[in-house]
Amino acid sequence: MNSNDASQLTELSPLNSKLNKHNGAGMQIHNLGFPRIGAKRELKFSLEKYWRGELTQADFLAECKDRRQQNWKIQHDAGIECLPVGDFAHYDHVLNTTLLLGLAPSRFTQHTHSESDRQNNVVDLEFRIGRGQAPTGCQCAASDMTKWFNTNYHYIVPELSAGLLANNSAINTDNLLNQFNEAQAITDNRKAVLLGPITYLYLSVTGHENKLDLLPALLTRYQAVLSTLSDAGVNWLQLDEPALGLELDNEWQQAFTQAYQQLNKGNLKILLTSYFASIDHHIDLLKDLPFDGLHIDTVAEKTDVNVIIEKLPNDWIISLGVINGRNVWKTDLVSVYQKLQPLYRKLGERLWLAPSCSLLHSPVDLNQESKLDEEFTSWLAFAKQKCQELSLLKAALITANSDEIILYSGPALARCVSKRIHNSEVQTRVSALSSSDFARNESFDARKVAQQTSLNLPLLPTTTIGSFPQTGDIRQTRAKWRRNEITEKEYTELIQAEIRATIERQEKIGLDVLVHGEAERNDMVEYFGELLDGVAFTQFAWVQSYGSRCVKPPIIFGDISRKKPMTVEWARFAQSLTDKPVKGMLTGPVTILCWSFVRDDLSREKVANQIALAISDEVVDLIDNGIEIIQIDEPAIREGMPVKQSQWQNYLDWATASFCLSAAKAPATTQIHSHMCYSEFNDILPAIIALDADVLTVETSRSNMSLLDAFDNQAYPNDLGPGVYDIHSPNVPEVDWMVGLLEKAQKHIPVERLWVNPDCGLKTRGWEETKLALENMVIAAKKLRTST
Ligand code: GLN
Ligand code: ZN
Repeated sequence: MNSNDASQLTELSPLNSKLNKHNGAGMQIHNLGFPRIGAKRELKFSLEKYWRGELTQADFLAECKDRRQQNWKIQHDAGIECLPVGDFAHYDHVLNTTLLLGLAPSRFTQHTHSESDRQNNVVDLEFRIGRGQAPTGCQCAASDMTKWFNTNYHYIVPELSAGLLANNSAINTDNLLNQFNEAQAITDNRKAVLLGPITYLYLSVTGHENKLDLLPALLTRYQAVLSTLSDAGVNWLQLDEPALGLELDNEWQQAFTQAYQQLNKGNLKILLTSYFASIDHHIDLLKDLPFDGLHIDTVAEKTDVNVIIEKLPNDWIISLGVINGRNVWKTDLVSVYQKLQPLYRKLGERLWLAPSCSLLHSPVDLNQESKLDEEFTSWLAFAKQKCQELSLLKAALITANSDEIILYSGPALARCVSKRIHNSEVQTRVSALSSSDFARNESFDARKVAQQTSLNLPLLPTTTIGSFPQTGDIRQTRAKWRRNEITEKEYTELIQAEIRATIERQEKIGLDVLVHGEAERNDMVEYFGELLDGVAFTQFAWVQSYGSRCVKPPIIFGDISRKKPMTVEWARFAQSLTDKPVKGMLTGPVTILCWSFVRDDLSREKVANQIALAISDEVVDLIDNGIEIIQIDEPAIREGMPVKQSQWQNYLDWATASFCLSAAKAPATTQIHSHMCYSEFNDILPAIIALDADVLTVETSRSNMSLLDAFDNQAYPNDLGPGVYDIHSPNVPEVDWMVGLLEKAQKHIPVERLWVNPDCGLKTRGWEETKLALENMVIAAKKLRTST
């Protein structure tokens, strides 16, 4: 076997013909799941047309069927032998599992009017649960949506109760089985994919019931599904149990054992599948259970495959996830090959190879990118290319004369020697950091006095989170500028006009701390990514975030630095228009990190610190230009948490440190704000406190301030702005309702440290409702000021 040097990376496609010769021999390569959205986000557009009534249900379903065929074909053409079926979803695969198990929450099913409506609603029911509405059926509050483990994908949270599980709604395996038949057009070698009962239950919410009390009833339904699949002739079932990556407590461990001892798999063969973390700690739990194989993610964490294999029965399939399913870098195939070769010798046909996890989390096809430079492109592999990488590995492993197959040894090497990655100035700065760089000079109490003197804000100051409605005009302005249809000067004037109008509106409304409105930003991470060195942008590297929503994460490939000030001109212009303070608005280092594809040759902590230094430079420039309040948004801190609980603290330590690094240069008189848009942070409260922001604004309105209960055990020491209304809804909140919430908040936070603000940015709202809502909010604050 040859290993190329870094300068000549192998073209993958010509090798396929060679590979086909060996098809069927030895081991098998398979995939756990493929991106549903399509290389050009076709699924997104089908969905949105259907929701707007521009596509009939039949046409919508036909387009989805077509999408599935194409996804299978791409995988098959790339050499994947065993294709996954059941990974596709119109909206979300956890929601699919809910529907398959017949567990749609009753508020979505009880209003079905007529039998024909009911028929129609099988598809619409899914969208009503996922997004609260669909072309048919009544509107209902959608089910909650939350992050899928430590990814940026959101799943629809199952809502379980004993009553729901006891009702007589039947399981529905039709979709899964129909798709199983559809895939036969491509190959007989398919496996069904299903989320396993323990993870499903673990991710669900229940009322007051203990989740594990619901397991027996849930297993009854799972049993019915397994029996149906077995009867239908499904051979392999990939049962996903990513919860195994967590440190499950004794009760959950027992539940796992009991569940799988009890389930009768019939003629099915079960590939127990886990990803996103190592499962070394749970091998004893599963080794005696009636599985037929185990898939392990070998990329997410260090894992000793040999030790695991030793413990497992010697007739199990061992599926190794050797290609990173969550990042965009090419695999160092030579090094993987070298590790696999002895394993292949030992296991032979028992060895299967796959990506580490479903490719759902990868962009679809690198070949679409025409604007990336050649060297950079040679470092990348998207979903389709990852399948091809597996083919190459298999070819190299099974070929007697392995010199026939050329593997690339790696982008790791290529990237390492590239000058474009290294910036010695940045590296020197990061290595010179000492603990004093991570903290502000004065205590919060001292800062509070200094800021009060310079800002002179009223009690219960009112503010917003940063963005104001992004009108069609604003989007058009940005689009024209990107297409070079307007000059830089015209663009600046148009955005300045928006800023002026936004400042005037805020002054009229009577807000105390203003913002410039973020008209120049399409996205809070992309905006900064484009202005930073060491970060690249693609045209089509879309990844599903939830439902029809896709994101195009920046790719952090090298040392990060700021080319020039990124926000100063807009901030200075906004501040020049008013005597009230205008907040400078930045995205924090952890959020930029979490919402990007990140280089894998440097620790995340180091990358975060590089970003933090760039943000810190911006903070200094804003201050030098007269900005007295700076908000550094960190909505992503919570979702960056590792899967294993025992690793949380280490993560939180460096994540909060990097936020602190970005803010530490601010003198006492500069007020640092931060914002987070979720209301569940009981478990990370000490970290939130450690951020030491002067003012923290958070989402609380939907939970009626119940988040603040957490502060009863551990008081929040700085200023806090618990959102007083939900910006996700167009409804205008009433004054008294907000007064009530603020009174409730005062039970937890002294009024001198309380701010009044909505719960998130307003960019998705219209001006009309925004104006009315903020006017009411200002009245509410004034009402309380006079009564306090
Ligand atoms: N400043 C951003 C905005 O107002 C914050 C967005 C967020 O929290 N995700 O839009
Ligand atoms: Zn927010």
